[in-house]
Amino acid sequence: MASMLTITVPKMGGAPHMIDRDQIDRTVDNLAPEVVELSRKIHQHPELRFEEHQAAAWLSDTIEKSAGVSVERGVGDLPTAFRARLGSGKGPHIAILAEYDALPEIGHACGHNLIAGGALGAFLALAEQRGNLQGTVDLIVTPAEEGGGGKIRLLNAGVFQGVDAAMMFHPYDRDILAHPALASRWLTLVFHGTPAHAAAAPWDGNSALTACLDTFRLIDSQRVHFRDGVRVHGFVTNGGQAVNIIPEHAACEFSVRAPFKAELERVAAIVERCARGSAMAAGVHVEISIRQGYREMKNNLAIARRFGAALEALGRKAPETDARVGSGSTDMGDLSQAVPSIHPYLAICDEGETLCHQHAFAACSASERGFQTMLTAAKAMARTTLDLLEDAALLEGVKAEFAKT
Ligand SMILES: [Zn+2]
Repeated sequence: MASMLTITVPKMGGAPHMIDRDQIDRTVDNLAPEVVELSRKIHQHPELRFEEHQAAAWLSDTIEKSAGVSVERGVGDLPTAFRARLGSGKGPHIAILAEYDALPEIGHACGHNLIAGGALGAFLALAEQRGNLQGTVDLIVTPAEEGGGGKIRLLNAGVFQGVDAAMMFHPYDRDILAHPALASRWLTLVFHGTPAHAAAAPWDGNSALTACLDTFRLIDSQRVHFRDGVRVHGFVTNGGQAVNIIPEHAACEFSVRAPFKAELERVAAIVERCARGSAMAAGVHVEISIRQGYREMKNNLAIARRFGAALEALGRKAPETDARVGSGSTDMGDLSQAVPSIHPYLAICDEGETLCHQHAFAACSASERGFQTMLTAAKAMARTTLDLLEDAALLEGVKAEFAKT
């Protein structure tokens, strides 16, 4: 994409000094037309998980052309992932993360185009100051948050090696600094029974569908034993073959989510028990397959509070959490278990107006308000990154908190 901006890089050498935060804000404001345009373009061309080829190309071209920073494409063996680095790898090492994948049919209804723009804005503003940075800053572009777990793949491939802290922001209907995200797991249940003529000889059959439906009922009967915040939700993917056949095959899928891993294990075992109990009652066989989802978010409050202070300096005051708000799951949870991390939410619409994964939220993700929030996020992330690079006591506190929680 054509670059509208040339960044002047200060000369290297001399003692590093504190970088002027107002200068960072001004750079983001100067970059605004280019960053907004790119975010809008990603919004207009939604790409599903692991297929974010255009978005990756637009983002990496902008970084190379605008900031003159070289981009390491395909990190972690993921073709649409990339990393751009400021600094030599020495000193404190901070990662700013971009997501950019969309959802089937409803496009950018999770606002990942704004996450990409916010991370890009922060990184380009810091790139202008690269001669004065007291450490290393990575922009890591992480594919497939929506069900693909790109961050987990990058983590396992060592892309976050040496990173001391990681951050991103997520659009929402309100500002929250450190909201929980749930640990998750998927279970697929396939029931195999005995077919028979449903009118002429139903006594010869064993209904796979009966066992499938009873599984839902048994799980409901167990909800009284779930801890607060647990979610178990499923749907039938195969309800039988024909109305005049006792169903030989039936299947359903469940998502199990919990605030922490031990509760996830416990509830997932209950769901399995319900499936086996239903199968036994119906005289059919059940096959259970499990797919790991995401870990719960371990919010680093020391970083989150600093991000909150940066937001406040920019005229926005955010609470740490909000008991009225539900939680989803994100692959940032997995990263947060390995590296001190934050995943703050920032409003792109009025409270209660709409939420992620709705059509109206997709519209907000390309609205003036959405883009303004994206630019505020860019400034706040750049300021927080500088705090982590320049304030040794802060980074020590971040690490101490991470080690003991
Ligand atoms: Zn999202």
